[in-house]
Amino acid sequence: MKVYNVSMTDIPDSDLYRLDDLLTPQEKSLKERISSWVGSHFLPQVDLYWNQGTVPGELLRELGGLGALGTSIHGYGCPGLSARGSGVVMQALERGDSGLRTLASVQGSLAMKAIYTFGDESQREALLPPMARGELLGCFGLTEPSAGSNPGGMDTTAVRDGSDWIISGVKKWIGNADIADHAVIWAQSLKHGDPRGIRGFVVDTTLPGFSATLIKNKYSLRCGRTCMIELDSVRVPADCLLPGSEVGLRAPLTCLNLARYGIAWGVMGAAQACFEEALAYTGVRESFDRPLASYQMVQGSLADMATELTKAQLVVSHLANLMEAGSVTSEQISMAKFANVDSAQMIARSARELLGGVGILGDHCSLRHMINLESVATYEGTRDIHRLVLGRYLTGVQAFR
Ligand SMILES: Cc1cc2nc3c(=O)[nH]c(=O)nc-3n(C[C@H](O)[C@H](O)[C@H](O)COP(=O)(O)OP(=O)(O)OC[C@H]3O[C@@H](n4cnc5c(N)ncnc54)[C@H](O)[C@@H]3O)c2cc1C
Repeated sequence: MKVYNVSMTDIPDSDLYRLDDLLTPQEKSLKERISSWVGSHFLPQVDLYWNQGTVPGELLRELGGLGALGTSIHGYGCPGLSARGSGVVMQALERGDSGLRTLASVQGSLAMKAIYTFGDESQREALLPPMARGELLGCFGLTEPSAGSNPGGMDTTAVRDGSDWIISGVKKWIGNADIADHAVIWAQSLKHGDPRGIRGFVVDTTLPGFSATLIKNKYSLRCGRTCMIELDSVRVPADCLLPGSEVGLRAPLTCLNLARYGIAWGVMGAAQACFEEALAYTGVRESFDRPLASYQMVQGSLADMATELTKAQLVVSHLANLMEAGSVTSEQISMAKFANVDSAQMIARSARELLGGVGILGDHCSLRHMINLESVATYEGTRDIHRLVLGRYLTGVQAFR
């Protein structure tokens, strides 16, 4: 006779502190709409995308139709959601796959945010509405082969020639670049050969000298498009400069802050998917004649995962309040980015372990999320770079160099 009866219907959801109760009815219905699209349109194709190592650009158009692009931007046909609403969108997407959330982050938090914040009115009016609909695609080219954690060390140059600029250089790891219509490119602006500082440009990707190719052989974030960009003396007119971008790194770092905020929310979606998969599986998988979930060590693991998930959700929940109040600092965002990725990695790894052998199969999501989180831990500032940001804040001493 079975003493234990842990059925799927008994399984609670992963929102132990009822944080979803803080959502407005509009945010709740947006979350449901996106979750349902992820379940019915994206996840049935995820194995195909993973095996191909890329996703179709058409997905971005679908994300635009769902209102998932440029979520925090007000006006210009953008959704204008609250900080919490934008976070919830990222979470719902990353519950499907980190690559899917990355597609939306690159378009919305990086490319659109750069144009919205540092562009002029004519750039905003021309580009943002079609970008919000997913009809025009953007990318954000900051990193280079020899300048990642230290983007200030970039070699790409923009040289004035009459009223035009000539941009030359190589950008690496750039999301969506091979399908983008416009690339936001950060370059050292030069005058008479002297460095004048980093400026942002919106570059039409059909211009002569611009090329982007997919990076092959990625073992992580395979449902995403990650590219190399080559700029071979690309001549761009004066009105491609983002005029509000001051000389220096403040402008790109402002965009990265918004994207990091989205990551801190997004990875909780991946963690929820892993936790719920482990909870469901251990409820039905029997070992030594009893469900795994009936063993103390397994319950200990599940309790640790739920606790980690809840703590990390509380971090982003409060971070949303700070964002709304306009008082958030880059140190607070750095802490949330690396700490929540750490939590998600711990949860994904525990979930994969609890699945045993089947945990390495594509039929389950935990290993896919676990592998993706390696990319998420790396981009938008590695764990150690964010710890250095916090270290500088705590001690007053910068230890980057
Ligand atoms: C899948 C993916 C997508 C990406 N998408 C984009 C994109 O769309 N646009 C874009 O511009 N970039 C993008 N990136 C680039 C990403 O932001 C960089 O990879 C990241 O900043 C790290 O740079 P790096 O790879 O050059 O590593 P490095 O800077 O070479 O770092 C290597 C290691 O050294 C450590 N390290 C570096 N400096 C220090 C220091 N001072 N003290 C202690 N440790 C240090 C790092 O923490 C890391 O562990 C993407 C990257 C990936 C993997």
